[in-house]
Amino acid sequence: MFEIFKPKVYVNSIYNIDLKKLKEKQRIKGIIIDLDNTLVAWGGNKIDQKVINWVNEAKKLEFKLCIVSNTKSKRVEKFAKFLNIPYYSKFFKPCNTPFLNGLKILKTEKKETVVIGDQIFTDIWGGNRLKLTTILVKPIINRDSIGTFFKRNFERIILSYWLKRNLINLENGDWPK
Ligand SMILES: [Mg+2]
Repeated sequence: MFEIFKPKVYVNSIYNIDLKKLKEKQRIKGIIIDLDNTLVAWGGNKIDQKVINWVNEAKKLEFKLCIVSNTKSKRVEKFAKFLNIPYYSKFFKPCNTPFLNGLKILKTEKKETVVIGDQIFTDIWGGNRLKLTTILVKPIINRDSIGTFFKRNFERIILSYWLKRNLINLENGDWPK
């Protein structure tokens, strides 16, 4: 049930993603990543050193990265420039356009691209519709925009439905195993 919303994997944070294995085992080359509550706290201005290290590790492993975000372009631009990765923020997820533009920027095939984000109804739904590999992360903080706040209640219901039935597990260790 709700298959179109279900991520391939649900992890605690981006740090649970074993980038080396993601590349070698899953043959992933491109990463479309969300900004707010995935890389930085919603509304936050600081980027954690751990995030910088994670991005650098991904680059070292020759992953191509692109931030695809629904937040204001200026805000996305600031973080993208700081991390030195491209970004796209003109159209809203879960529409196809932002993901297709992300793919265009990355120049990767759908099957070699992952979408990483903290929202089922934007990041995961959009990624799944295009048959990209989707990774759901727990939001960095529990605060969100008003629009997101309402969606969160539905997310909670769906997540608990999957978790109770073991249709999904929260990966606290490294993934892929
Ligand atoms: Mg987000």
